[in-house]
Amino acid sequence: MPELPELEAIKEYLQKYLVKRRIEGLEILKPIVVRNLSRSDPSTSWVGRRFVAIDRRGKFLIFSVERGDHLVINPMLTGRLYWVPWEERRLAKTFFILHLEDGQDLRYVDDKTMGRAYFTENLSLVPGFAEQGPEALSPEVALEVFRERLKAHRGEIKGILTNQFFLAGIGNAYADEILWAARLYPFRRRPQLSPEEIERLYLAMRSVLKERIEIVRGQMGDDIHLKFRQDLAVHGKGGQPCPRCGNPISEVKVRNRATNFCRNCQPGIMIGRSRRLETAAESRVVR
Ligand SMILES: [Zn+2]
Repeated sequence: MPELPELEAIKEYLQKYLVKRRIEGLEILKPIVVRNLSRSDPSTSWVGRRFVAIDRRGKFLIFSVERGDHLVINPMLTGRLYWVPWEERRLAKTFFILHLEDGQDLRYVDDKTMGRAYFTENLSLVPGFAEQGPEALSPEVALEVFRERLKAHRGEIKGILTNQFFLAGIGNAYADEILWAARLYPFRRRPQLSPEEIERLYLAMRSVLKERIEIVRGQMGDDIHLKFRQDLAVHGKGGQPCPRCGNPISEVKVRNRATNFCRNCQPGIMIGRSRRLETAAESRVVR
């Protein structure tokens, strides 16, 4: 569930509270999400060390401790971090807990066991990490760089936006928001986009992500485990009125992912196989 804006806000929050804090213990309750890629057992080797940095790269959070070890978390759709006192009741789906000095815990909870956490000395060992494209909000990704990178992809524009090799940080929810802001049909193929439409897409990507970071930062407080998606324009809003034109927002499930968009503001038609999938999915739309 968390994408660039939420992870950026969580990172900033944890930088404030975790950096320099000493680890008193690491309890791995359910090893299934944890991959130890380091040479030592982190549940003993991490005790007594302090956090030195918290970073984000794409949809990964990176927790670095003294002597060069990292914990890398990719929460995928259902992973959540909790920042709570030691005595707080443990949720059933708690996978591991870092006990910190001053009685605070950082806990990883994952209702559907979809996320992954890696202990490693070398970030490039983490699957999917080194291969990521540049950050979607990186100053290096100017409009011309964006145009150039798009040329390598010929598929549907929503699929490209969520492809972490194209740009890192955008998932299903913010791709819908960006495409709505850019007034582009999510299933248009990249070669069909005009230079003007690509510019609109680029500007929408930058403004939606920046605006959402501000919003999530303002709403989050200590509740780093919550999602802050109530005030999105279209994602998760199938059947509700489009905030721009009032037309009901469509919801289409293609390849197991829900896509929300406004047929009035984002006109277009699917072609070929995808069109049959869309027609089948449209009949299941809940309004
Ligand atoms: Zn609309």
